[in-house]
Amino acid sequence: MNIPNLIGYHTSSEGTITFQTINPITDQLHLELFVEATQAEVDQSANLANAAYRPFSRTSPMERARFLKAIATELEQNKSLLINTYCGESGLNEQRAEVEFARTIFQLTSFADLLSQDLWEVKHIDLAEPNRTPTPKPQLTKYRLGIGPIVVFGASNFPFAYSTVGGDTAAALAAGCPVIIKSHPFHAHTSYQVAKLVVKVAKELNLPEGVFSHLNASGYEVGQQLVQHPLIQGIGFTGSIKGGVAIQQLAQQRSVPIPVFAEMGSLNPVVILPSALKKESDIIASKLALSITQSSGQFCTKPGALFLVKSAETTHFLETFKTIFEKQVSYSMVHPTIARTYTQRAKQVIDQANVQLFTEGTVTNTCNLGIPQLSLTNGQIFDSNKLLQEEVFGPHALLVICKDQQEIEQILENIHGQLTFSLFHNEENIEAHNLFFLALEKAGRVILNGVPTGVEVSPAMQHGGPFPSSSDSRFTAVGTDSIERFLRGVTVQK
Ligand code: NAP
Repeated sequence: MNIPNLIGYHTSSEGTITFQTINPITDQLHLELFVEATQAEVDQSANLANAAYRPFSRTSPMERARFLKAIATELEQNKSLLINTYCGESGLNEQRAEVEFARTIFQLTSFADLLSQDLWEVKHIDLAEPNRTPTPKPQLTKYRLGIGPIVVFGASNFPFAYSTVGGDTAAALAAGCPVIIKSHPFHAHTSYQVAKLVVKVAKELNLPEGVFSHLNASGYEVGQQLVQHPLIQGIGFTGSIKGGVAIQQLAQQRSVPIPVFAEMGSLNPVVILPSALKKESDIIASKLALSITQSSGQFCTKPGALFLVKSAETTHFLETFKTIFEKQVSYSMVHPTIARTYTQRAKQVIDQANVQLFTEGTVTNTCNLGIPQLSLTNGQIFDSNKLLQEEVFGPHALLVICKDQQEIEQILENIHGQLTFSLFHNEENIEAHNLFFLALEKAGRVILNGVPTGVEVSPAMQHGGPFPSSSDSRFTAVGTDSIERFLRGVTVQK
């Protein structure tokens, strides 16, 4: 069966390039053939999105809230089909699919609730003072306006929540921006099934054609054509640093540059102070082993490096951690390419001078395994080798044993921007410590006595840190504040 592109309210499959998705657990190809979009189809979707922008941005916030809620209802009604396809294409289990599905629904309804607030579209009103001296003051009303058609690139590891109708799409639609999805080739069918429901709802609500389009693509070309298209006004990207940077550069080279909100990879350092080990060493070991290995470590917030001070407590912690870690089971990763890259990157780390394999998890009998691994080095080596400071996407973490807390601080002064920074401690007033301030400078979210995986969807969430974890640390990709990425202010003065 051929799967077409969804361009506005039409299906289209003009291209000659087709591709298939795979079940990563069995290595079996699925039968559906996805027809990759052509340049002409990219143009059609951009033209329709541009035409839809004016009427869609003029809909009331309540109308857009209705749209988002109706999408959530439609997803709920098709939940078992969607979860089935999700599991078959990603190898992620049903429990994980359920959590991600619920999160996707919550994101849609959170934006709907935000838009339902009275006068949401008005940011500030400054009343006129006609009698002010020496000059009268005019009335100023600052409105929120969507920036225009947005292209969304989803990541391989979140087929629901960071993809077709995930956080970026929900935020852009809430802002009044039409959306074109560059579907992720690893979960193209899940994406297509979700997209069909969005199109159905848009049609039923008589929204302008082009408010949502969905393009199939197996390589970079379609995404690059979309980023370069003059009618596109912004990009939401979730993926690797390499991909995000490439897209950002492309957007900057346009004759009219556009913003790229790229949420990328991160090492997510975890500092475990001796005071924490004295209090609950074994609990910390259990929490971290799970955080590194769950869903095969395929989270942008997975802890990638753990910093400890050389001591008797650390020796005890490492023994317990080893025992717990060895019981962690390997799972299929979301795609053979991701599994291969993971295995190569983990090996590359372990092959560095003065780095050694500390221990491994239990190997199971499915395809495309991400075998949980811990490697070990010291502070000096970590500090001097940039390769050790980069994300390994999968169930791997590097243990960095330092001389003292001062060495940990020195090393972490030199790392680049992070999504998260975790600090296990049992200090009186950690928020007055240098390490805490350093964490605030380096990351978007600082976690005290907890693990970084499990990103709460909340208005108080900051998901996005200094470059290269994100392209613009002033914005979040999670929570209702993420709508700010797709809005601009317009003041009406009278
Ligand atoms: P990826 O390889 O960067 O792919 C993401 C999307 O971007 C895909 O659709 C990909 O197309 C496209 N792409 C990548 N490079 C491109 C280029 N040069 N030109 C045009 N398109 C390009 O990432 P992934 O493997 O799907 O996801 C894993 C990564 O995402 C990890 O690094 C993880 O940490 C990160 N992530 C970050 C967050 C966050 O919120 N910060 C959340 C989830 C995941 P193709 O597939 O066709 O190559």
